[in-house]
Amino acid sequence: MASKHFKYVIAGGGVSAGYAAREFVKLGLNAGELAIISKEAVAPYERPALSKAYLFPQGSARLPGFHVCVGSGGERQLPEWYTEKGIELILSTEIVKADLPSKTLTTAAGTTFTYDNLIIATGSTVIKLSDFGVQGADANNIFYLREIDDADKLVAAIKAKKNGTAVIVGGGYIGLELGAALKMNDLDVTMVYPEPWCMPRLFTSGIAAFYEGYYANKGIKIIKGTVAVGFDSDANGDVTSVKLKDGRVLDADIVVVGVGGRPLTTLFKGQVEEEKGGIKTDAFFKTSVPGVYAVGDVATFPLKLYNELRRVEHVDHARKSAEQAVKAIKANEEGKQIEEYDYLPYFYSRAFNLSWQFYGDNVGDTVLFGDNDPTSASPKFGSYWIKDGKVVGVFLEAGSPEENKAIAKVAKLQPSVSDLEQLKSEGLAFASKF
Ligand SMILES: Cc1cc2nc3c(=O)[nH]c(=O)nc-3n(C[C@H](O)[C@H](O)[C@H](O)COP(=O)(O)OP(=O)(O)OC[C@H]3O[C@@H](n4cnc5c(N)ncnc54)[C@H](O)[C@@H]3O)c2cc1C
Repeated sequence: MASKHFKYVIAGGGVSAGYAAREFVKLGLNAGELAIISKEAVAPYERPALSKAYLFPQGSARLPGFHVCVGSGGERQLPEWYTEKGIELILSTEIVKADLPSKTLTTAAGTTFTYDNLIIATGSTVIKLSDFGVQGADANNIFYLREIDDADKLVAAIKAKKNGTAVIVGGGYIGLELGAALKMNDLDVTMVYPEPWCMPRLFTSGIAAFYEGYYANKGIKIIKGTVAVGFDSDANGDVTSVKLKDGRVLDADIVVVGVGGRPLTTLFKGQVEEEKGGIKTDAFFKTSVPGVYAVGDVATFPLKLYNELRRVEHVDHARKSAEQAVKAIKANEEGKQIEEYDYLPYFYSRAFNLSWQFYGDNVGDTVLFGDNDPTSASPKFGSYWIKDGKVVGVFLEAGSPEENKAIAKVAKLQPSVSDLEQLKSEGLAFASKF
C-alpha cells in the first residue's frame, strides 16, 4: 500500500485544521510540507453555521459560503486556496489507526502517512441514544448534528415533512438552536429535557426563564424533568412517536437529538497522556509525545486565568488553539519562545432574533440585570458571576459589539465588587466603566 511523508500532518479537517493551515501559511510554509486528512468530503468550514443559517427556510448558508476563516472575518479558504498554497487536502479519508511511536497514520483504504509533526484535530462526535440501548433509537428520521452530511439529511427531512411534527431531545446548545430552526420551518416543535431548565451547565434559572418564555411565545412546547426512553416507527422504519419516561407519548415525524458530545481520542488511547476526557497538553498544545500536538475539542489544556486544566468545546478556542500550536511548532524549529496560551473562555449562540455572548467563568454568586421579560419588544439583559468578591463571568443577551467587548474586558480584568445590589442596579453600565 502507498505511503507518503509530510513534515506536518493535521488529523481531522474541521475548524482547527482550517485555522492551523492559515497560520502555517502566514508563518511560512513550503509546498508539499503540510497535509490535512479529513473524513469529511469538503474543505474546512465554520461548523456553527450547521445549526443556524444552514437550516433556515430560505437555506441562505451553503458551501462554499462558510468555509473557514469567514467566521472570524478572515479570508474564505476555498479548496483552491489549499492547492495554491501547496497544501494536500485529503478529503473523504478516515484515519483508522494511529501509531505514535512510529509516527504513522493509516487510512481506511490502507494508505499510510508518516510525519515529523502531527496536530490532532479530530474534534468531537455526538453521543447517540442507541449508545445507551434506547429502544427504537435507530428508526429513520432520528437525527444528530455534527457534520455537513448530517445537516443535509436533516434539511431533506424538513422538506419532506412539511408542516409536520418535530421533537427535540435535549435542552443544550443544539436543542435550543434546532428547536428555533425547525419552528422557523413551520414544524410543530416540542422540546424535551430532564433538567429543571435549559442549558443548565451555563444558564442560571433566571437566564433560562427568559429563553423558555420566549420559545413558548413562539409556540414551542417544552417538557422538562423527563427523558425519551423509546421510539415507535411505522412499516417503513420511519419514526412516528417518542415515548417519555413519565408515560407521555409524543407524535413525531422528525426527532433531533442533542444530548452532548465526546472528544474523538480513541485512535490515540494508551499512546498519549489524557486528562478530563481529552488529550493533555501544555500551554503550547504539545502533548506528552514529542512532535504531537492536540487542539480544539480534543485538547485538555492549562487555562492560565483560572489555573486549572480544561477542555473547551467551542469554536473560538478551536481557532485560537490551532494558531497557538502552529506558532509553537514554528518557534520550536527556529529555537524561539512564544507566550503561553492565555485564553478567556468565550461562548455564544444565536436563535430566532436572539443572540447572546458569555465570557469568563460561570462560578459563584450571580446577579441578573436588565429586562429579561420574554414578551418585551426588545429584551436586553445579562448576568454577572461573582467569586471571592470579584466578577469572573458575564453573560449578555442582545449586546452591541461595543457592549460585548466591554463584558469580555470585565471577565478578563475581574474587578472587585462588594455591593451586589448596586451591581444589579448598575447592570450593563458597570461593565462599560472599564
Ligand atoms: C452543529 C454545531 C453547532 C455549533 N455551534 C457552535 C456555536 O454556536 N458556538 C461555539 O462556540 N461553538 C459551536 N460549536 C462547537 C464548535 O463547532 C467546535 O467546538 C469546533 O468545531 C471544534 O473544532 P475542531 O477542529 O476541534 O473539531 P471539528 O470542527 O469537529 O473538526 C474535526 C474534524 O475531524 C474529522 N475527523 C474526526 N475523526 C477523524 C478520523 N479518524 N479521520 C479523519 N478525519 C477525522 C471530522 O470529520 C471533522 O472534519 C458547534 C458544533 C456543532 C456540531
